[in-house]
This record gives sequence, structure tokens and C-alpha cells, in this order.
Amino acid sequence: MLYQSFLIKYAEIGTKGKNRFLFEDALIKQIKHALRPVEGKFIISKESGRIYMDAQGEYDYDEVIAALKRVFGIAWICPMFQIEKTDFEEIKKEVASYVDQVYEDKNFTFKVDAKRVDKKYPVSSEQMNRDLGEVILDTFPETKVDVHHPDVLLKVEVRKLVNIYSVMIPGPGGMPVGTNGKAMLLLSGGIDSPVAGYMIAKRGVMIDAVYFHAPPYTSERAKQKVVDLAKLVSRYSGPINLHVVNFTDIQLYIYEQCPHEELTIIMRRYMMKIAESIAKETGSLALITGESIGQVASQTVQSLAATNEVCTMPVFRPVIGFDKQEIVDISEKIGTYETSIQPYEDCCTIFVAKHPVTKPNIKVIHKSEENLAEKIDELVKTALETVEVIKCW
Ligand code: ATP
Ligand code: MG
Repeated sequence: MLYQSFLIKYAEIGTKGKNRFLFEDALIKQIKHALRPVEGKFIISKESGRIYMDAQGEYDYDEVIAALKRVFGIAWICPMFQIEKTDFEEIKKEVASYVDQVYEDKNFTFKVDAKRVDKKYPVSSEQMNRDLGEVILDTFPETKVDVHHPDVLLKVEVRKLVNIYSVMIPGPGGMPVGTNGKAMLLLSGGIDSPVAGYMIAKRGVMIDAVYFHAPPYTSERAKQKVVDLAKLVSRYSGPINLHVVNFTDIQLYIYEQCPHEELTIIMRRYMMKIAESIAKETGSLALITGESIGQVASQTVQSLAATNEVCTMPVFRPVIGFDKQEIVDISEKIGTYETSIQPYEDCCTIFVAKHPVTKPNIKVIHKSEENLAEKIDELVKTALETVEVIKCW
């Protein structure tokens, strides 16, 4: 195994002042969670503004990198050689050994960027740059120095220990999950809502989810698809409790009592209401949807306003201004696309009218909802009492 240690650099959480340790601890927790299914043991520690991971024996490099690339808060993953702060001759040897092992083909240009953080160390940064450059040129005559656009920027940091690295793998950015409360994602089987969940989790928010299931109009397979999507999102967000609401009776009742062109809007209003009740009960402070302006009749600005009216919680709609293709691009990147396009319909597609209203008038909607007065409260209560919770991770 080439690398025994990793340097984890974070970006935005570095700016959090006095609370920085909370962000660092959350990041370490998420790193541990991400590494759990991965082969290998690591000791994780923090040292002024950075996090180190030390491998304890064998591990699977590709798996480790793939797992770290899903941990929000990580800006860069740097596999490195790390040695004790010994005499400079030893550091020279280690640097030559690093270059030899990491770069099979030595035909590259390079620059050494040494940093003496420990000012007690007897060799200055400039001298290290010069001498280490010379060692590389002498040991590998195919290499060349290029201080402006080097192929390889070799970092040598003299801190508590000596870090040698040149490979910087980008992490996902964002903030560690757990630093920004919890929100409830309305998760359907489509492309948009898993992306919406991913985007909010990226800002450090823990996620729970709710899915409105309408058996027998929607199949067990459609529900399984939502479970699969929740698990895919949880690779980034950490554990998700998926609340499955049996929505059939509510949907049928609305279908019987209300004008069909208003079905989708009224149904969506009940979805939001029920999602908000579950969110309140389970500690979520906001709702998340995959709505995007104008995508379908129920997502015109008028429809969004009508849907939003039933909520008192903030509703996060992170893909609101995205074109479909932009959402698809993210879903491909995060690995949910293939599952989202499986052809199992979610509950909305069954009860859609041929000509749904695109500019609902809120007064008209209120009037139609009066037709539900007799049974709707009881139906909502039953739906809330029979929620099935599936742990997804
Ligand atoms: P998606 O691709 O996320 O399914 P969509 O383009 O199909 O979105 P709609 O069906 O209008 O759009 O749904 C808009 C949003 O409402 C979804 O992104 C999701 O957040 C929520 N939603 C829709 N149907 C359900 C459902 N059956 N269960 C939970 N949430 C739902
Ligand atoms: Mg949908």
C-alpha cells in the first residue's frame, strides 16, 4: 500500500470562528460514518485547521477515496507520506522515495512548495525548496523544474510531523451533515426530489423523508424504488428515516369530492400538510421538495403559491431555478439517475386530470376543499397513525 496517511482539508467550515470545533467534530463523525462499510481501520485526529487520517494496516484505497468523496465539508483529500520530524537528510531521502513510488513515469515538471510551520526546525522554507528540488533533479534526471505551471506541485510541510504530498483529490465541498438541524424531504420516485435532498444535506442539514404511497394504484415496486433512492441519498446525508404514508383513501376522497382539474393541487396541499405534521413530530424544522418553476402544471408560480399556503414551516426548493437537464446532470453525478428513471409510477401519475389548472385561484381551491369537510380530518388522522418508518442507510 502506497499511502499510510491522508490529510483532509476543509474549506468553508474554516470560517466558523469560535464554533469551529463543532464543525470539525461533525466532520470527523461523518468521515467515520462514511468509512464504516469500507475495508480498513483508521485513526482520525485534528490539528489546527486540518484533519488527519492514519491507516492501521491494510485498506482498500479506491473504496476509501470513494467514501470520502461523499462526505460534505471535505474540500480536498490528500494522500501523503508522513514521517517524524527528523534530520533534513532523512526528509530528502523520504522525498526521493515519495517521487519514486508515486510517479512511475518521471517525465514531468515540478515545483517544491515547502513550508516550515514549526519555526524551531533548523532549515528554512526557502532552503528546503532549493535542496529538495536538487535532490529530485539529481535522483531522477528526466524531471525538470517549472515554477510557473508545474505538472507536479510537491508540498512538504514541517509541522508536528512532516507531511509530503502532491496529489489533491477534490471532495464534495459543503458543510458536515449535523451542523444545521434537520429537514423533511418529500421524496417521490422521480429525478428531482433525490437531487433536492442531496443539495440541502450538502449544506449540513440532516434529512428525513416522507413518501406518499397509494396502493394498489401504486405498486410495491414503486415503494421499493423510493427506498432505494433514500439509501442512495443516505450515502451522502447519513441515515434517513423514510416515513411511508398510505395516501390512497385521501386521494380517492379528493377524487370523489373535488373538480378533477384541481386534483393535483389539492392533493399536493394535503401532502404538504401531512409532511409538516410528521416533520413537527420528528424534529424537522423545514420541508424540502424537488419542485422547479414551470416544470409541470402543479409547479407554475400560482400553483406553488397555492401549495405553499398550507405550510407554516419554511419549504426549501433547492432546484427551483434549474432546468430539467441541470437536475439530470446532478442526479447522474450523485448516482440516483438510473434508479429514478425506472418505470414504476409514483402516486401522482394515476390521478392526474387531462387538463389540470395551471393558474389556480386560491379562493376557488378553498371552496372546493369545503367539500372534504365531512371526512378529511379523520382520513388525515388515520394516515398519520399508520405511517410506516423505514430506516434507510
Ligand atoms: P420528482 O422528479 O421529484 O418526482 P416531479 O417532477 O415528478 O418531481 P411532482 O410530481 O410535481 O414533480 O412533484 C413535485 C415534488 O413533490 C417532488 O419533487 C417531491 O418533492 C414531491 N412529491 C411528489 N410526489 C410525491 C410522493 N408520492 N411522495 C412524496 N413526495 C412527493
Ligand atoms: Mg414525481
